[in-house]
Amino acid sequence: MKSKSKTYLYFFSIFSFAPFMFGPAQSAPTLSAKPIKCAQDAGWNDPASARRLYGNTWYVGTCGVSSVLITTQQGHILIDGGTPEAANLIETNIRSLGFQLSDVRYILSSHEHFDHVGGIAQLQRNTGAKVLARAAAIPALERGANDRSDPQYKIIEGFSPVKDIQPIADGETLKLGATTLTAHATPGHTQGSTSWTWRSCVANQCKQIAYVDSLSAISDDEYQYSDESQHPGVLQSFRATLHKVAKLPCDILITPHPSASDLWPRLDQEANKKLVNKQACQQYAQKARVNLDARIAKEKSSTP
Ligand SMILES: [Zn+2]
Repeated sequence: MKSKSKTYLYFFSIFSFAPFMFGPAQSAPTLSAKPIKCAQDAGWNDPASARRLYGNTWYVGTCGVSSVLITTQQGHILIDGGTPEAANLIETNIRSLGFQLSDVRYILSSHEHFDHVGGIAQLQRNTGAKVLARAAAIPALERGANDRSDPQYKIIEGFSPVKDIQPIADGETLKLGATTLTAHATPGHTQGSTSWTWRSCVANQCKQIAYVDSLSAISDDEYQYSDESQHPGVLQSFRATLHKVAKLPCDILITPHPSASDLWPRLDQEANKKLVNKQACQQYAQKARVNLDARIAKEKSSTP
């Protein structure tokens, strides 16, 4: 499939040139001597230590909700802003690595639920970054509230509305410095669900990093994924997402909830847990397929 090639470029303005004479800090981490150890079942607002994932890619989220910073010579990209309460923790983590909030140029997100985008309004204000999202996610982001197209509509919390969002389409790329991210529409968990891939290098060792959105079929009591009259095409697009995720370039999988991809045991190199796993996206998609099939079977058996 041919992907669209529209590319966002970061342009210097003469007004912003001076601070970039030497470029934003690349890596001057002053990591705390005793990093916080995160439990697999950690809370969404439990503070985590900022840490390097690979190359220019850093974990700056909490123990329970991911936020990832990708640093370049021309500024940085942040994916996901955690809960409203987590925004302060994310800001502290970015600074703890020696990076400046004002060097964050773009904020992206996985999906329009308060635990991943609740902190974006604050982060947008405090960084001055541009927020990019897929068109399907924009209405909920702008309202700070979900609607009935969201499987969890009746049980999900609202969040601070996000302003001035620029659309980015499926297959479109975002280029900043030497890094190019690709947006992948992966609807299912929500209609706006988006996954992101990029390449990160340490010397000449380059890895494909895939930040793949939640794939869980979770809903309130009212919603049925298999109800074609209410939600036409939704189940089909969810299944298409699982096919797509299995084929993403994927040496290192990161998920919006670190526990969904065993991030902590992988980072701590516990037994049989490796940060790099070329099958990780396939395995993640397969697990989601089993869950979705079980969910649909349940819907079919409970529908009169
Ligand atoms: Zn969610």
